[in-house]
Amino acid sequence: MRTPIIAGNWKMNQNPEETTAFVNAVKDQLPASDKVEAVIAAPAVDLSALLASAKGSNLKTSAENAYFEDAGAFTGETSPKVLKEMGIDYTIIGHSERRQYFHETDEDINKKAKALFNNGITPIICCGETLEQREAGETNNWVSGQVKAALEGLSADQVSSLVIAYEPIWAIGTGKTASSEQAQEVCQVIRETVKGLYNEQTAENVRIQYGGSVKPANVKELMAKPDIDGGLVGGASLDPESFLALVNYQD
Ligand code: PEP
Repeated sequence: MRTPIIAGNWKMNQNPEETTAFVNAVKDQLPASDKVEAVIAAPAVDLSALLASAKGSNLKTSAENAYFEDAGAFTGETSPKVLKEMGIDYTIIGHSERRQYFHETDEDINKKAKALFNNGITPIICCGETLEQREAGETNNWVSGQVKAALEGLSADQVSSLVIAYEPIWAIGTGKTASSEQAQEVCQVIRETVKGLYNEQTAENVRIQYGGSVKPANVKELMAKPDIDGGLVGGASLDPESFLALVNYQD
């Protein structure tokens, strides 16, 4: 059985004080971690505040990016080794904003996945198509290719434990959600891709999130789909009440 995982992606929003206030507002109303994993991915500058305020609660913590080297002359980058030392659970890699604005390649994302595993951090690997690719009928091939490139060289055990977030770029921050059928179709393609690369068990184990304008009003319908195990949520994760409605979608 795959444990559902709802992760907020704050992007470049919130400061340390706002982070602490947010966590204090939600931490006593989160679901048990074996029922639904509730995760906040915060900017690097907020991670200390996130960890301190989330301590002892059911809230899991995530970075929004990390570099593929542990240390060295890489000005402005975030070390996966230090994220682990701090106590961070997850790290998002390959978000479409990182691919688009910071020119991250599939190869970078694969190196980052390996670096995170080397440090005992679970990657949340993002993939997704543009509107042009969807309209040209290229979605399934494109997403499957991104997944293959990201997972290159990882073991079946590693892939069993990680999270893949399917995020159609045209649905991120636009208010346009993929229909639950569209989301399910691509999440199923991702699971089949993992099965082809590894085996049935690995495909059964890997958790796949949908992301793109997920909100309290549509989370239940999306989560009812057989290959959707969670949500990666931007805008609707910034407000404590809305985040609580998302992570408690089963109630
Ligand atoms: C995201 O940040 O990954 C995202 C899906 O954003 P939003 O929920 O705002 O569309």
